[in-house]
Amino acid sequence: MSDGGPTQGAVLAVDIGGTHLRAGLVREDFTAHQVEIVSSLHILEVEDPSAALLAFVTDYLGRCTGGAPPLAISVGFPATVSRDRRTVLSATNIRSMQNLPIADFLEAALGVPALIDRDVNMVLRHDMNSLHVPRQGVTVGCYVGTGLGNAISINGEILVGRHGVAGELGHLPVHGLSLVCGCGNTGCIETVASGKYFAEMASRTFPGTPMGDVLPRYSNHPKVLEFLRYVAVAIASEVNILDPEVVILGGGVVQAHGFPRETLEADVRELARKPYPSEDITFLYSKGGQQAGVIGAGIYAWDALHAGLSPAAAASLAASRA
Ligand SMILES: [Zn+2]
Repeated sequence: MSDGGPTQGAVLAVDIGGTHLRAGLVREDFTAHQVEIVSSLHILEVEDPSAALLAFVTDYLGRCTGGAPPLAISVGFPATVSRDRRTVLSATNIRSMQNLPIADFLEAALGVPALIDRDVNMVLRHDMNSLHVPRQGVTVGCYVGTGLGNAISINGEILVGRHGVAGELGHLPVHGLSLVCGCGNTGCIETVASGKYFAEMASRTFPGTPMGDVLPRYSNHPKVLEFLRYVAVAIASEVNILDPEVVILGGGVVQAHGFPRETLEADVRELARKPYPSEDITFLYSKGGQQAGVIGAGIYAWDALHAGLSPAAAASLAASRA
C-alpha cells in the first residue's frame, strides 16, 4: 500500500465522555479516520478503568490497523488531570476515576507516547483550529453541556494551574444558591447554568413539551431567561478576569436549535465591566460535532510530536516508515 496503511502518520485519539467513547486515527492534517463510537460505561463503570481502556484500544487497533501501533495515543477524560498531565485525578460521580496514572500505563503497554487531558481542553484545541483562532493571546471556551465546561488557552498553551485544575468555571461559587453541586459544594453556578439543570427545569416548567422544542418556543420565558442569565454571569466573570481575544461558546445546549445567542451575548455584555471588556467581546460558536473531542485529542498529540515529545516517538515514527 503506497500510503503505508492506516497508522502511517496517524495518532490514536480517544474522547471519553460520560456516556459515549469516540476513537479515531487523526492524521497530521487533523482529519479523523475510522471513527468509532461505543458506550463509555464499560470503561468508566468498572473496577479497573485503565485495563478496560487498554483492552478497547488494543481491540480497536486490531480491527482498524491490523495491530500496527499509532505514532502516539491521546485521550480526553471527563475528569480533572494532574498538573504534569500523567494522572487522572477525579471525575464527578465516577468513583473508579480516582488518581489513575493512566498515561504511564498506556505508554508502557503500547510502547508509544501517551498523552491525556481534560475533555474540554481537547474540544478547545479543536475549536481554535476549526474556527481559525490565532494561538497568540487569551482564548476561552465555555461549553454548556451536561455541566458548564471551561478551557483557557494562553498563547496556544492550555492553562493548567498549580494542581492541574484551572478553568473550573462551573464551580464559581454564587452566594444565595442552594443546590448541591456534584463536587460537594453548595451553590456552584453549574447547579443552575448547565445542561443538566436546563433539562430538569424544562421538564418541570414545560411538561409535555419535547426537549428540542423548548428553546424554539420559549426562549423569552422567565425561567429560560433566568437560566441564560446564570450562564452569562459565569462567562462575564471570566471575561472580566482575562479580557480574552475570543470567547468560544459551545456545548449541547448552546448548539441546540433555537438557542437565543443574541440574548446570551447581550447578557454577557451587560454584566461585563464597562467600557472594556464589555464593548468589544468577540464571540465565536463551536462547530462542535461528534468528532470535536477526537480531533482535539489528535491536535494535542501532533503538537507534542512536533515539539519532540520523546525518543519513543522518533522510534515509532522510524518503525512506521520502515
Ligand atoms: Zn461544584
